[in-house]
Amino acid sequence: MLKKPEKKELVDAYKRHINYLRISITDRCNLRCIYCSPGKRFKKMPHESILSYEEILRLTKVGMDLGITKVRVTGGEPFVRKGCCEFLEKLIGMKGLSDISLTTNGVLLKHHLARLHKIGILRLNISLDTLDPAKYKEITGINAFNRVWEAIISALEMGFSPVKINVVALRGINEDELKKLAELTFSMPVHVRFIEQMPFGGGSGRNGPSLAAPEIRRRIETIGPLLPVSRQKNDGPARRYRFEGAPGEIGLITAVSQHFCKECNRLRLTADGRIRTCLLSNKTTDIKTLLRSGTTDEELAEVFLAAVADKPRRHHICDGGPGDLSRMVSIGG
Ligand code: SAM
Repeated sequence: MLKKPEKKELVDAYKRHINYLRISITDRCNLRCIYCSPGKRFKKMPHESILSYEEILRLTKVGMDLGITKVRVTGGEPFVRKGCCEFLEKLIGMKGLSDISLTTNGVLLKHHLARLHKIGILRLNISLDTLDPAKYKEITGINAFNRVWEAIISALEMGFSPVKINVVALRGINEDELKKLAELTFSMPVHVRFIEQMPFGGGSGRNGPSLAAPEIRRRIETIGPLLPVSRQKNDGPARRYRFEGAPGEIGLITAVSQHFCKECNRLRLTADGRIRTCLLSNKTTDIKTLLRSGTTDEELAEVFLAAVADKPRRHHICDGGPGDLSRMVSIGG
């Protein structure tokens, strides 16, 4: 009797099962956040080097056949790319993904909420580092606080859940607001997630060493004790808490001070068709060239498998490496 071929899965050398693909659909962004934007040193990717939606869908399907069940669409800013919602609809239509979510800066989100709701993308991560419109402009370069805020309120009213607000804790910039941002969880059912600043962006490091999670925690615990929330199956790296009586949640993402590499289940596809197995390593694998050479899905699967086999055990930003990580905007966070 013929033996059934063994099903290939994305498992790395450290026995981590990779089931989460983060797809950056563009390197373009309508904001210039001081901690993210690469500044003038970097050129935008030429249009022809950016994967078409059809190419992304094909690669996603190849990933799904290897065990990818969870996808996050990010950027750049996903909504600056034309046809983002149509793409999301096709992604949902592929069936077999248990979780599809989106990370956005929220500036263009309000116009797209009805469509997202209709197609069933209800999980949103919205980046917002301040509640002060003037400071928002200082951080992002654009006067758009009100647009983001209105989108958050509308998303909650329409029943999107969870609505997560990503706050990068910035020393000397929004550290005086961390408590106020955490207090949002008393009045709204949002998840406010504090992220340690990672060494990206043209302006990286200009505001001094990043605020580490214990310090962030100390500041927000002046409100009251943070009660741990038990972890769920599809949880990411955030440590989850809530304040007594609050409908919302607090998350702490300790990418720098206490890395969570041991549990890392992620793979990234960059807008220009490279597989990146660690956000904080510059090593990537080109899959676009093979994809555009008229290859088979089996060969593409081999590229995924080889990239994952080489996934680093952990990142090294705490011990000096890897140096220049200036292209967060094209990797997607
Ligand atoms: N444009 C979208 C947005 O703003 O959410 C998606 C792309 S953005 C690169 C994804 C996430 O990465 C955002 O939440 C952003 O705050 C975070 N991010 C960017 N640079 C960072 C840094 N240096 N340290 C920590 N988080 C960063």
